[in-house]
Amino acid sequence: MNRRHFLIQGSTTLAGILLASSPLRVAAQHDHQAYQKLPSLPYAYDALEPHIDKRTMEIHHGKHHQGYVNKLNAAIARGHDLQHMTLEDMLQNIEKVPKHLRQAVINSGGGHANHTLFWNIMTPGGSEPTGKVAEAIQSTFGSFEASSEMFVKAAKTHFGSGWAWLVVDENKKLQIYSTSNQDSPLMKGHTPVLGLDVWEHAYYLKYQNRRADYIDAWSKVVNWEQVNANYLAAMKT
Ligand code: MN
Repeated sequence: MNRRHFLIQGSTTLAGILLASSPLRVAAQHDHQAYQKLPSLPYAYDALEPHIDKRTMEIHHGKHHQGYVNKLNAAIARGHDLQHMTLEDMLQNIEKVPKHLRQAVINSGGGHANHTLFWNIMTPGGSEPTGKVAEAIQSTFGSFEASSEMFVKAAKTHFGSGWAWLVVDENKKLQIYSTSNQDSPLMKGHTPVLGLDVWEHAYYLKYQNRRADYIDAWSKVVNWEQVNANYLAAMKT
């Protein structure tokens, strides 16, 4: 089994991705499993060039995502109750997170979950929509073009920092919308299958204020096989 195959097989659900990012070694050091670790990228920093540049990827993954992981772990260290929860549990049951730690979990836990998904739904060279998710997109939105237009509009018109999402909602239907800051669709009881980071840190070095150009470039590196795997996993739970 090659590395790419392993990564795809090993990360077909968000829960799988999040569990994979908290290895036993780290859990053992802290005597529980809640502590999180920065997941490795499933490709090299320069692999998404020219669409997403190497320097942006280095800072985005190595500094921003690492920062969310560090701050989340600091919150977990302060919250005994959190130490028995997975990150998915925390976000899906945010009202159970102690009030004094809730915003830290929303911001940093959301940031960790969102970015972990984000790295996995990109791939060098991109791909075409495929499988059951392509069929569901067609039946929900009329056509891939129509869904794409909605998604791009959500991403382009989102004011300030946030994310555009394709999610499976509580009725197992697809929805497209945006959220602010690092708010995760998991907090609404939805499962994200595709997400686009529209924080300026995701594109400013290469695209400056041209968010539309970034969105267009990003669409050329989407890993639809992984999006389909995310969709199948979300439909099963
Ligand atoms: Mn980001």
